[in-house]
Amino acid sequence: MSSLADRLSSVQASIADAVHAAGRSADDVTTIVVTKFHPVSLVEELYALGVRDFGENRQQELSLKVKTAEVPEARWHFIGQAQTNKAGAIARAADAVHSVDRIKLAGALQRAATAERSAPLDVLVQLNLTDDPGRGGAQFDELEPLVEEVLSLDALRLRGVMAVAPLDEDPAAAFARVRAASDRIRTLAPDATAISAGMSHDFRQAIDAGATHLRIGSAITGPRPNTA
Ligand SMILES: *Cc1c(COP(=O)(O)O)cnc(C)c1O
Repeated sequence: MSSLADRLSSVQASIADAVHAAGRSADDVTTIVVTKFHPVSLVEELYALGVRDFGENRQQELSLKVKTAEVPEARWHFIGQAQTNKAGAIARAADAVHSVDRIKLAGALQRAATAERSAPLDVLVQLNLTDDPGRGGAQFDELEPLVEEVLSLDALRLRGVMAVAPLDEDPAAAFARVRAASDRIRTLAPDATAISAGMSHDFRQAIDAGATHLRIGSAITGPRPNTA
């Protein structure tokens, strides 16, 4: 069995190869290790190995880990579907929210960030690459009004776009649509350059398509416990 350190360095080497092959700079790509369902001890082991960016998709687990893990310089990324009644807890715990997909949620995060934070909350708008609203994310034609709303909210700082590639589509084609959404968003918000895309099985294609933030779980952490 490979160790956590082996898996981390092997994924980091694959990322470095893909970034180089794409003619991009390593500084432009941040790897977020997704630790959902794993214990606090795994977060601390990853931190000891140099990881600083962590991703969680459930508010309660995020809040618990932020409170209990001894990882003083960690940055926490909330990447899951958010209910508006959890906005306060998310704004308290997260450094960035990647999954803003509707105007109502943006408003809830604005109120929460105003109450809970001294600095603006970094947010990304999530694009749904399927027709299934249950997958989370806004449809392509809903992005522009959502972006305009976020830009009007002073406690939120728009950083870019996030998406999850569907399993039944060529990832390169899916990420090309994310890239097109990013181009569109940057005409409205030139500083919103982040593209959060790419997971364990498709990060190479995401890097080719310009991803700036990879969200990688199982390839580094191993299989998730208790997800059956
Ligand atoms: C779980 C999750 C990931 C990581 O998935 P892996 O396939 O384990 O790399 C990335 N993004 C989101 C939104 C997730 O929920």
